[in-house]
Amino acid sequence: MSKMINKFIVDYHVHSHFSSDSSASILDIAKVAVEKGISEIAITDHFEPINLKNLYKDYNPSILLLEIEEARERYKDKLIILHGVEYGQPHHFPEISKHILQSHDFDYILGSTHKNKDFLDVNKFDYVSGDIQTIVKHYFSEIKDMAVDNNFDCIGHLDLIRRYGAVKKVVISLENYIEDIVDIFDIIIKNGKGIEVNTSGLRQKMNSSMPDLDIVKLYHARGGKIITIGSDAHVASQVGSDIDAGLFMIKKAGFKTITTFQKREPHFITI
Ligand SMILES: [Zn+2]
Ligand SMILES: [Zn+2]
Repeated sequence: MSKMINKFIVDYHVHSHFSSDSSASILDIAKVAVEKGISEIAITDHFEPINLKNLYKDYNPSILLLEIEEARERYKDKLIILHGVEYGQPHHFPEISKHILQSHDFDYILGSTHKNKDFLDVNKFDYVSGDIQTIVKHYFSEIKDMAVDNNFDCIGHLDLIRRYGAVKKVVISLENYIEDIVDIFDIIIKNGKGIEVNTSGLRQKMNSSMPDLDIVKLYHARGGKIITIGSDAHVASQVGSDIDAGLFMIKKAGFKTITTFQKREPHFITI
């Protein structure tokens, strides 16, 4: 495995077997991260509550933390491992947000909108025969609701809808939705929150990060400062994938720093 050249590589979006769509152990993820010369990772397993009952059916943050602590011990001095979470649709569940954020000591909360209010997944939207403009407008209004609700540190894959459009061979161009995106940016910037650059799209059909250069530039122009980067790895070998390309793009968009978190406090690292 080749070592990366950048002196500071982080991956702030990694799934382990505590997510139903991954079977990677945290120890394996940490091992690969160290081999690739990554200095910091955030384990961000899915937490997708449906109701207040069976809250931790698949996702159990207390057991997960034990596994993180084991990996921290094994790779101490080599790798920082954060206890993060990818919290799906936090704005749908204010009571659950209150509960989980008070009872667990997270380092980093990624707020992602994977589903609309009818629990329909973004990958199930009718991209082929539906009205794309209505679908995309509705998608961004959900993200705006999540931004207003403000129970996260960074917004995950802001334009995930492009990824699923691409799967159905529908190219979704964001130029018609700039006002909606600016609204979201203004809210999170005012609240001291940020966005992530998710590099998983670079290994998928859409062939770009989420968001891509134009939108990251727009975020910078609006005064955005908090920006993280993550591969959205679901297997250990994907940890750190295309992070160097993503960092290059973030710099090109005008950023001089990338953001890391500790106990939900942002820190800025020169890139
Ligand atoms: Zn996600
Ligand atoms: Zn994810």
